[in-house]
Amino acid sequence: MDKQQLLASLPSVDEILKSDKGLQWQTVYPRRSLLKAIREVIDQGRQAILKGDLGELSLEEIISDIQRHMEKALEFNLKPVINATGIVIHTNLGRSVLSEEIMENVRKTACSYSNLEYEVEEGRRGKRYSHVRKLLTEITGAEDSLIVNNNAAAVFVCLTALAKSREVVVSRGELVEIGGSFRIPDVMSSSGALLREVGATNKTHVRDYEAAINENTALLLKVHQSNYRMVGFTSAVSVNELVALGRKRGIPVMFDLGSGSLIDLKPYGIHIEPTVQETVRAGADIVTFSGDKLLGGPQGGVIIGKAELIEKIAKNPLMRAVRVDKMTLAAFEAVLRCYLDEDKAKEKIPTLNMLLQDPGKIKERAGRIVSRLRKKLGPAFTGSARIDILEDSSQSGGGALPEIEFTTYVVAIRPARISVNALEERLRRGTPPIVARIKDNALLIDTRTIRDTEIDALVKGIVNAL
Ligand SMILES: *Cc1c(COP(=O)(O)O)cnc(C)c1O
Repeated sequence: MDKQQLLASLPSVDEILKSDKGLQWQTVYPRRSLLKAIREVIDQGRQAILKGDLGELSLEEIISDIQRHMEKALEFNLKPVINATGIVIHTNLGRSVLSEEIMENVRKTACSYSNLEYEVEEGRRGKRYSHVRKLLTEITGAEDSLIVNNNAAAVFVCLTALAKSREVVVSRGELVEIGGSFRIPDVMSSSGALLREVGATNKTHVRDYEAAINENTALLLKVHQSNYRMVGFTSAVSVNELVALGRKRGIPVMFDLGSGSLIDLKPYGIHIEPTVQETVRAGADIVTFSGDKLLGGPQGGVIIGKAELIEKIAKNPLMRAVRVDKMTLAAFEAVLRCYLDEDKAKEKIPTLNMLLQDPGKIKERAGRIVSRLRKKLGPAFTGSARIDILEDSSQSGGGALPEIEFTTYVVAIRPARISVNALEERLRRGTPPIVARIKDNALLIDTRTIRDTEIDALVKGIVNAL
């Protein structure tokens, strides 16, 4: 056949729609997506014929191509991924995982009308943030609280509300970039507050803050260094010292804790200093932290502190632009309720549970994965890859605890027939995608962040890729 005959042999959109398969598709797929897939497949066939890459196309081939297109088109863009990196608070993979139990509260509230801004007892308008206020003050010891869209918004709205056109004193050692576009000097200038930097990069003293205070000073700000550390000849002013100075000069002290932890993790050898409660006890007037880092909740920014300042922030018009949705509040309430009992929090909040896991359990899970792989691969087990369980270390992620290496266990896979890079790529492109890392020419599946419910899909993904 020449090109003209080949082109003429391609079915029309209408013919496909009227075929048995086409009629069946119309009952299950959205018409718009179906038409798009049919046109794309016919067009690809036409292009291939014109280029001379293609002989006659059978109707079966066209139909199965359309089926593949439809399956891809109907897959959600935002979807679950298996996190085999061992990084618990992985910002690119959605930070904190929420438990089914917590999501049940979100589902119930969101799939129905709720008392979001309504006082049922009084029959009048209520306050959106009242549902988490008591929990937050009870857990943290602060006088009052607010929740906004994320911690960046929390810092921004606090600076705007408390320090617009006035000076905020910050140590040069704390003018950090957290990642993405959050840099303290930039946030400061967009908020309208004036940055007054003091001290040197490595050392700042109380006298540096004191010398910078003038009649236009609105705040003394401390920022957690999050994902970086200074070592050697360094010194920083503690929140206690800053509070003492603030009290003496009548200036409020704000602390952006970033990853703020509500639990003292020192018994686990994890020194996060200070915890949210310690910061409040030290007398900080305003404290901000993320909802989805160490707290293990939904994306959000928590603002706690002195009632009078919180009231001032709550009245700022920007609060409306950064306000949170009912689903976020429902998730926050469920997570915060877990914190009323610390042991319950460590067990029920996936972020804490994965971070504080006993290494023995992580190793045991790795063992289960390897024996499942051995069983599934059968006689091919030894021929397709070398698979070992190794001790390794992982980080918490989320800009928290960069100096702490957590002991973990990994399933190390050295494929025999494909390169380790090809294996990594196949896993990443699978359904569900499996994100792992490569080290010393082996693909590492860190079992700290693999949940028991994911083991089946993980094993299947690895077997297919090998
Ligand atoms: C992570 C972090 C932020 C930003 O918090 P988001 O919740 O990501 O907006 C701000 N400040 C510090 C110190 C942080 O660690």
